Amino acid sequence: MARLETQEESFTRFIEDFLDENDKLKYDQAISEMPVKGTKSLVIDLTDLYSYDMDLMRSILDDPESILSTLSSVVRSKLRTRDPIYAESLKRINIRFRNLPHETALRKIGSDNVSKLIMVNGIIVRASSITPLVMKATFRCPVCGEMNHVEQSGQTLHKPQKCIACDNRKNFELVPKESVFIDSQSVTIQERPEDLPPGQLPRSVNVELKDDIVDIARPGDRIQLTGFIRLLPRYGRGGELRTFDLMVDASHTDVSGREMDLIELSPEDKEKILEVARDPWVHQKLLSSIAPSIYGNDHIKEATLYLLLGGVSKELEDMRIRGDINVLLVGDPGTAKSQMLGFAAKAAPRGLMTTGRGSSAAGLTAAVVKEGGTGSFMLEAGALVLADKGICCIDEIDKMRDEDRGAIHPAMEQQIVPIAKGGIVATLNARTSIFAAANPALGRYNPYQTIAQNITLPVTMLSRFDLIFILKDQPDIQKDTEIAEHILGIHKTQSSHDVPLRLEFLKKYISYAKTINPRITDEVIVRFRDFYVKMRSASIEGGEASAVAITARQLESLVRMAEARARAHLREEITVEDAEAVQNLMQKSLEQVGIDITTGQIDIDILYTGKPRSLQNQLQKVLQVLSEMERLSGSVRDDDLYDAMQSDHGINRSESAKLIGVLMKDGTIYSPRPGYYKRTS
Ligand code: ADP
Ligand code: MG
Repeated sequence: MARLETQEESFTRFIEDFLDENDKLKYDQAISEMPVKGTKSLVIDLTDLYSYDMDLMRSILDDPESILSTLSSVVRSKLRTRDPIYAESLKRINIRFRNLPHETALRKIGSDNVSKLIMVNGIIVRASSITPLVMKATFRCPVCGEMNHVEQSGQTLHKPQKCIACDNRKNFELVPKESVFIDSQSVTIQERPEDLPPGQLPRSVNVELKDDIVDIARPGDRIQLTGFIRLLPRYGRGGELRTFDLMVDASHTDVSGREMDLIELSPEDKEKILEVARDPWVHQKLLSSIAPSIYGNDHIKEATLYLLLGGVSKELEDMRIRGDINVLLVGDPGTAKSQMLGFAAKAAPRGLMTTGRGSSAAGLTAAVVKEGGTGSFMLEAGALVLADKGICCIDEIDKMRDEDRGAIHPAMEQQIVPIAKGGIVATLNARTSIFAAANPALGRYNPYQTIAQNITLPVTMLSRFDLIFILKDQPDIQKDTEIAEHILGIHKTQSSHDVPLRLEFLKKYISYAKTINPRITDEVIVRFRDFYVKMRSASIEGGEASAVAITARQLESLVRMAEARARAHLREEITVEDAEAVQNLMQKSLEQVGIDITTGQIDIDILYTGKPRSLQNQLQKVLQVLSEMERLSGSVRDDDLYDAMQSDHGINRSESAKLIGVLMKDGTIYSPRPGYYKRTS
């Protein structure tokens, strides 16, 4: 009767026999390469084993723990025949498994998986620094000096019960030099935003990474992880409880987020996409499929379409130019801002919706937090990092945390989040488009003030948005009637009528279009150059008091949006039509936010300084007069100041009072006693 093969024999046969697609011994070769590459792990692709030895694979899936040391010793003896010195130098040889035949959803991990091998996909949200973990601890006996060795497992440190040489039972002292340590790191992985069932909070699970797989992924990275499910004891007042915490002891991690892995498209999908793109009305079709339930706001829908498609990011040798388009909506309450953001988050192949406060301690950027249990520092990724390579929709961005206010600047332009705190120094990626909404600080938008005065956001941040739109809720009989009919119609039929492209298809179309990298043509370069020069010189004509109309940032924005528009048509080249369309959109946005109320010129300075250039000139005059008069009298009486403004600059009393009000609010001047003013030094 044939004897059943032992696991050791099956595994040896697999190594000596399994051929890769080039007819080479895959794993035998991998073992030979270990000394050359200096690795201490053998990674086994379980799909190989699946086709080769079902029984062995089943025992690995069911009871991975008991089989690991057997497999490890097989590899060690193989390695010993190749390179005995290297084999001896390795304290441990790890067997790691990747590519299980099926994946477990993160939210489905439960009691059935305990002690089993599973594979999950997730995004790293937190990572600790790397800490040494003792595997074999050596203790010196304080009485006789004898060394006691204790193999370690589980969570707590095991000390000797009793010295092997004398009767001492306490005060053993760990001798690090004689002990064996490996690196360990704990991370938390969370469900990917796109896997999240609508309206659910994301679930997460703690993962322990050990030895050579520590530090290969950062917060924000998407990983495919295989590992064993383990239980951690919980303690109550009466001792250990019957309930446990679950954690994953990682076997192998594949970082998947580095390249775009968008929605998978079937050949039929691709055919349909190409067919839609051939339609001469494709642009109109796409536009009317953006948030069809929202009435009007066509320019915002156009901006949303470009934001979803994005431009091409350029990796130059000395710098990186973002391709992602950032859009800000500012406006009165109830103007469908939140609805618009919600639509974009749903239509994006990889979208995330959050609020200015953020949904975790890390807020919008990142934070170093102290973990309750061990007191070690953990790096936690915020919304912009989690949305890497996607779109981050931030509602009520004006309510952003103070910590984020500084950190958001590099995140918006360089698309990185640098962090250095609590011994953790890291740079996280935030290559994401930002679609943000803000409410005016005083409830309603005041058209007689600049945008920076209306919302409590720094002007430096405003200049990092490619487009800003203002939604004003002004009563208008005709428009109101149409909106009312539109909204009530939706309530009646419970659907928005005749949408050309359904959301699911739109998502696929966008994901396909994003693979195209349209080129800019000489013709378009000339257009953009002329447009840029025209905008800038328009203000120069106004004399020395004029403002700079446009900056190089807006020029880059034009290119990005033109690329996005070409993508909408699945075109490899930017056309003059694209250029003109985005110039119009840019002009529309500039008019809404940058128009200098006093001179009627487009004034980008409002974005940068928060005040129109003409107002700045007036304020400067007040400060000048004030400083001259201060030299004579210390603080200046209000009536004297008004008189001087009138005689020196012809500015009347009420105008002067307004200017003084602005300077007082700024804190540039103050009132040392009633009726007197002084510059703040
Ligand atoms: P905001 O975030 O700007 O305060 P919301 O997005 O919460 O406003 O919108 C409030 C409600 O008004 C929503 O139900 C939205 O559908 C409706 N609404 C506002 N403007 C429009 C519009 N132009 N078309 C359709 N619905 C609208
Ligand atoms: Mg809202």
